Amino acid sequence: MMDGTRTPADAPVLILLGPPGAGKGTQARMLVERFGYIQLSTGDMLRAAVAAGTPAGLEAKAVMEAGGLVSDRTVLTVLGDRLAQPDCAGGLIFDGFPRTVAQAEALDALLAARGREVDAAISLEVDDARMVVRISGRFTCAACGEGYHDDFKPTAKPGTCDACGGTEMKRRADDTPKTVMARLDAYHRQTGPLIDFYDRRGVLKRVDAMGDIDVIGAALAKVAGPIPA
Ligand SMILES: [Zn+2]
Repeated sequence: MMDGTRTPADAPVLILLGPPGAGKGTQARMLVERFGYIQLSTGDMLRAAVAAGTPAGLEAKAVMEAGGLVSDRTVLTVLGDRLAQPDCAGGLIFDGFPRTVAQAEALDALLAARGREVDAAISLEVDDARMVVRISGRFTCAACGEGYHDDFKPTAKPGTCDACGGTEMKRRADDTPKTVMARLDAYHRQTGPLIDFYDRRGVLKRVDAMGDIDVIGAALAKVAGPIPA
């Protein structure tokens, strides 16, 4: 199959999709460590291109310094440059890109030019109502930083830290049920069309992301592991 138009069997191209709080970063790191894939995030690629002073990097720098949003065209140029580097011949995980169907189509064209294609778009699936409980219940001790949860890990004595006896507890302002629900809604609105796009393509894999972190990792490894030759 190595006729120059096919991906090496051990080098899949993966898209990782998941809402904030689903553990996407942790799971991406697991795949990097376990399979030696390269993780590609738009932010990292843009920073590297700016640092390297490539033409697209300089363009991105000017836009970012002016407080603007880097255009798809610039992002895709940076991505194309990155894909041409030798380490990108192996397995790839896209994290945070594509965000739109237009970007997904442009990514397809870039990959096709290199004889590759998206092998799996993996959606980390969460139960929104349970995510709201999970995230909005978190709090920490202001004195020692010990982490707690209203339902899953309450303090033994209400309002008092088990670890240090501190009585001031902190909650993140953006972790209220309302803001968590708003973040999930925004994610579903933005990602829905992409999920449909990859589903129609037959490469969508759904992984339940509500359970234990190691169980999720094992399920993910099953769909994200090297493609059998
Ligand atoms: Zn404490």
